Amino acid sequence: MSRSVDLFVIGGGSGGVRASRIAAQHGAKVMLAEEFRLGGTCVIRGCVPKKLFVYAGRYAHDLEDMAGYGWTVEGARFDWPTLVANKDREIARLESIYQRNLEAPGVEIIRDRAVVTGAHTVRIVGTGETIEARHILIATGGHPALGPAIPGAELAITSNEAFHLPTLPRRVLVQGGGYIAVEFACLFRALGCEVALVLRAEQILRSFDDDVRHHVADEMRHSGINILTGRSLTSITATADGKRVELSDGSHVEVDEVMLAIGRIPNTRNLGLETAGVIVDGVGAIPVDVHGRTNVPSIHAVGDVTNRVNLTPMAIREGHAFADTVFGGKPWQVDHHLVATAVFTEPEIGTVGLSEAAAREAGFTLDIYKAQFRPMRATLSGRATRMLVKLVVDADTDKVLGCHVVGEAASEIIQMAAVAIGMGATKADFDRTVAVHPTAAEELVTMRTKSS
Ligand code: FAD
Ligand code: NDP
Repeated sequence: MSRSVDLFVIGGGSGGVRASRIAAQHGAKVMLAEEFRLGGTCVIRGCVPKKLFVYAGRYAHDLEDMAGYGWTVEGARFDWPTLVANKDREIARLESIYQRNLEAPGVEIIRDRAVVTGAHTVRIVGTGETIEARHILIATGGHPALGPAIPGAELAITSNEAFHLPTLPRRVLVQGGGYIAVEFACLFRALGCEVALVLRAEQILRSFDDDVRHHVADEMRHSGINILTGRSLTSITATADGKRVELSDGSHVEVDEVMLAIGRIPNTRNLGLETAGVIVDGVGAIPVDVHGRTNVPSIHAVGDVTNRVNLTPMAIREGHAFADTVFGGKPWQVDHHLVATAVFTEPEIGTVGLSEAAAREAGFTLDIYKAQFRPMRATLSGRATRMLVKLVVDADTDKVLGCHVVGEAASEIIQMAAVAIGMGATKADFDRTVAVHPTAAEELVTMRTKSS
């Protein structure tokens, strides 16, 4: 007799864990399989360790900035192995919290790989046991893309390995112009590495507002990052003291480490989806309806494996909506529009809503409000950094369509701006709001002159 459950979840990351926990709280009998570590990409090798590394880099800036404020700090030294070990301890702590949060409502955790064998059956790979499930949730996330095979590709690392480097490389080449590439380029630079960022496009962060892209790229260049656009890697060779990377323009760069950050691929290979008749798209993502249902009614999918908005809060929300809808008798849908996001570059980006280009393309007539200024903190420190705030406003309705911030605390600022914009705030609403002074965020409510 095979065991049977109401819900079998494949993947113990952001989406799978939330869905399991909520479904179990609704009274469902739930089993969750995780082949690596509970917490998934975000906790184990994504958002959390990344942000801890970003914090580490920011102390370098703080130390530089302190002199202008009267401080002398002698003998400050950075030790990479200490950072990695402390980060690992924190990740292990979070992982155990995930485990407890699953166990508390009665989710059975299977620490093994699981594959689909039919519309209502799953096989646990290690034991070969087949589990019958009324519903199956695919929450398997994604993995780093390696791109076209080039000679020496095996010498490169991805973000997965970057979290466990035994030593901090003196010289790093990062390939890509997306979230991961720019974040790691900045954090490596802040920790003192020589950094080259190689991207095939002419500008970083495609689909972000153009002013934001230019502003951040200028700041990155100013910090010493060598941004090489319109190029790709053609080969990597090991040398006596590092790696030699040939680029498509015929030039080469000598580094200690090469990191590829050229997108992520949904984890659907060898998952048995074809045995159940689940359709995947050209990049391997699982298309789903508004309730996360695949073309097979008993099989749902949430998070990065569906390749919609690949951010942790979206995977969590999709998992929650699935569980409430299927097991809680409370159907609701996740809104994939107006999702605020932050990029932890140096300086960081916070953004919500439409870029100026996307708003124009959508046919809006726009009023643009924009301010670039030296943040107060940079005055005494002498740091040559500037902040950018920008509002994209529908000229016909006065509604704020997009808000873009670059600078210290941009990620924190944008969270609240997202509330206002989600409620349909107009530029007049921003203007009516009394400034908090002296802050950088006050620029958002004090811009009166249209820049176009
Ligand atoms: P995942 O968290 O990837 O979980 C999937 C889980 O399924 C994994 O644990 C995997 O081991 C397991 N699995 C896969 N196949 C099987 C199988 N067959 N059997 C059993 N288990 C299986 N997002 C943000 O919002 N903010 C950030 O700052 C941020 N930073 C990031 C930094 C990096 C370097 C990366 C890579 C991503 C970052 N993200 C960030 C994105 C975020 O991590 C993902 O969107 C999120 O983790 C997706 O959650 P998920 O549940 O869909 O998948
Ligand atoms: P992104 O999709 O953000 O960026 C991929 C980058 O790789 C782009 O610059 C793209 O170039 C480039 N690229 C793609 N294919 C190739 C190729 N064959 N050769 C050369 N370059 C290539 O992916 P990431 O891997 O950076 O991150 C994955 C996702 O994880 C993000 O989209 C985001 O959803 C999430 N994430 C979120 C973070 C956050 O919230 N702060 C942080 C990190 C990740 P082009 O622009 O020309 O297409």
